[in-house]
Amino acid sequence: NCTIAGYDDELAKAIADEGQRQEDHVELIASENYASPRVMEAQGSKLTNKYAEGYPGKRYYGGCEYVDVAERLAIERLKQLFDCDYANVQPHSGSQANQAVYLALLQPGDTILGMSLAHGGHLTHGAKVNISGKLFHAVQYGVDENGLIDYDELQRLATEHQPKMLVGGFSAYSQVIDWARMRRIADSVGALFFVDMAHVAGLVAAGVYPSPLPHAHVVTSTTHKTMRGPRGGFIVAKGAGEEIEKKLQSIVFPGIQGGPLMHVIAAKAVAFKEALEPAFKEYQTQVVKNAKAMAKTFIERGYKIVSGGTENHLMLVDMIGKPITGKDAEAALGKAHITVNKNAVPNDPQKPFVTSGLRVGTPAATTRGYKEADCVELAGWICDVLDAPTDAAVIAAVRVKVEAQCKKFPVYG
Ligand code: PLP
Repeated sequence: NCTIAGYDDELAKAIADEGQRQEDHVELIASENYASPRVMEAQGSKLTNKYAEGYPGKRYYGGCEYVDVAERLAIERLKQLFDCDYANVQPHSGSQANQAVYLALLQPGDTILGMSLAHGGHLTHGAKVNISGKLFHAVQYGVDENGLIDYDELQRLATEHQPKMLVGGFSAYSQVIDWARMRRIADSVGALFFVDMAHVAGLVAAGVYPSPLPHAHVVTSTTHKTMRGPRGGFIVAKGAGEEIEKKLQSIVFPGIQGGPLMHVIAAKAVAFKEALEPAFKEYQTQVVKNAKAMAKTFIERGYKIVSGGTENHLMLVDMIGKPITGKDAEAALGKAHITVNKNAVPNDPQKPFVTSGLRVGTPAATTRGYKEADCVELAGWICDVLDAPTDAAVIAAVRVKVEAQCKKFPVYG
């Protein structure tokens, strides 16, 4: 019955302080969420002690009979959630799932065509600073002047560069992606179509955002964003065929990972069971309603939303032309106990560390119980701060209101 407090007080305090911060601040970072106590119970379980290199039934260590049960449950639930026939739940993170896909299906130097980080893509979709942009010849697509993916331009780039793989998916795009159209573009040049659905996986599982599974050769995700599980990743596919599935299996282990994190896999199994419940569909439906309510309020208050609105869980507030940068907005809102992240917007004149935008997402606030009216109120307070980012009295007044709102919706009770 050891506890950290009394043994390592410095660390215990950091953990307690972070718990309190999560209660007292409203979390609007689009990639964050609150895992359930059940998920955390599995993640903190004795399964952390077990080495289980290999896959269920085919391990390189003895004593795997019970962790096999956990991994099989995770795999079967994941297949059910996304109506697919292949699932690997071992990737330690979203980035490692993506790395696995590239290394399994491409050769170094091959051309990939992914969305640029500056226009809403992820680092792992071919950014120069990431291994995906170093090991492969990465060509990048973006959004048009309306903030929308221009599929004609994407087709043009594909025809010109003849990529071996087209990468779909994003970290900061608030519209629905036409997966079927992207598959046609990939097919037109004989490329594989890979979708990283990390941001919208929970929405997809709940049926409130179109699934890429019927269109993509392979799909990856994180488990901790809209999926609301432990930090981690997975790979799924539908009708990919034995050859692709075999390559994916062997690249995850022994290709790029060693022993799987069995406690995390058990936590994934819990999260997937939760995602199969009817309440998860209600939750995801509310996530989108809340995002729409916030976007509407921002627009009414004179703040532009990239692409004009949102059809998912996030939006990008475009502050080009306003007397405030993304960096300063993030800092001012932080003082008011509102956590967001600065984010580049298309054609951003500011450096990536400064930016002219904010990314705002509703998955975490919705988990704690926020409904549209709460989100309208909150978006209004955000605008109050953005309108007067150096006014300490405005920030203090908003902080009082945010704290009161957070108290109404305790995260872990
Ligand atoms: N893919 C997308 C689209 C993401 O947004 C992210 C994280 O933000 C990742 C992958 C990476 O996931 P992880 O942080 O688990 O490596």
